[in-house]
Amino acid sequence: MRTSIQLCKFMGIPVRLHFTFLFIFFAIIFSFANMPQTETRIPLGLGGLELSPVMRYSLSTIAAVLFFFTLLLHEMAHSLVAMRFGTKIHSITLFFFGGLAMMEDIPRSPDKEWRIAIAGPLMSLALGVLFLFVYMGLKALEPAYRPVAILVLTIGLFNGALAVFNLLPAFPMDGGRILRALLAKRMSFLKATKRAALIGKLFAFALVIMGFSRDPFTFILTGEWRLNLWLPLLAIFLFMAATEEERATDTFATLEGIKVRDVMRTERATVPEDITLAELVNAMLADKITEYAVVDAVGDIKGFVTLDAVKKIPNEQRYFLHVSDVMIPYDGPRDALLSDAPASEALKRMLSGKKSILAVIEEAGGSLIGIITKKDLSIYIEMLRGGAVQ
Ligand SMILES: [Zn+2]
Repeated sequence: MRTSIQLCKFMGIPVRLHFTFLFIFFAIIFSFANMPQTETRIPLGLGGLELSPVMRYSLSTIAAVLFFFTLLLHEMAHSLVAMRFGTKIHSITLFFFGGLAMMEDIPRSPDKEWRIAIAGPLMSLALGVLFLFVYMGLKALEPAYRPVAILVLTIGLFNGALAVFNLLPAFPMDGGRILRALLAKRMSFLKATKRAALIGKLFAFALVIMGFSRDPFTFILTGEWRLNLWLPLLAIFLFMAATEEERATDTFATLEGIKVRDVMRTERATVPEDITLAELVNAMLADKITEYAVVDAVGDIKGFVTLDAVKKIPNEQRYFLHVSDVMIPYDGPRDALLSDAPASEALKRMLSGKKSILAVIEEAGGSLIGIITKKDLSIYIEMLRGGAVQ
């Protein structure tokens, strides 16, 4: 299911909106239009002001659009620094929790990583300061500009909060990455990730305690100590992110030094395109294998076929449909890996392209020498972890 749509391109980078972003967008419009002035110490909405509904909702829509742009600028800051280090940016996606810049290959160099990570919060901080200056200018012109001043103040405070929040030393926040990069200067990347994840988890634990007793965040806003059950929810999110980061880093560290050649399968790797699906199922049963590359009469690769594709075909049709009818066509270089490429490259390609099988070739444009599947790769990783492969 496609959960996001491309909105525009910004400096050549596709900007995508995840459907969950719409909720936050309308939530901002509604809460900014109606948030009562007395609720918080600092005015954060137009509630209680004498305004026509058109004016009220126009200003609130502008607030939501400005919110969107400042979030985008935060992600652009990460992306621009990463691009300067030669990293390709696939896209920027904005969703419920904020933004995410999808980078091709985040540099494993601590000096680059912390610079990429800190660029976003610095941008948010700069925007926050800029909006606060504009607010002070507008405040001098009161009371005619009061609604606009409140709008500018709200966006400024939002950006300040975004900067502070993102500097928290926990994954997946930028602060978690900065912390890991600083630690990685003194230890291995894997060890630094584990250390940073542990600090993130301790931090999550502190949030749970704060949420159930006294929440400093509501205190800053309202001047009152209250319970805040959002904090334990946030803590669960941080805890999961830390665990996921550790697991992913561990997997990539395990694959270090391993080549595609070491993991590829050369036997029982292909089936001819003209056999029936019934024959294919027999081959799968005999080989105990669920994925093959599909080849033509001269052995050139034509596509891939998996058990999942066959499952969709009713039993009686499997006698006259052929492998070529259900295969996923071969997509050239995007579906192929060089045999001496790192095995981690195969994993990355499978994760980002949602592929379960890739072709292995000896040189660019060369013929098929084997296949690499997600299943084989995960079994191999298990064996590496168990110390079975030397
Ligand atoms: Zn960020």
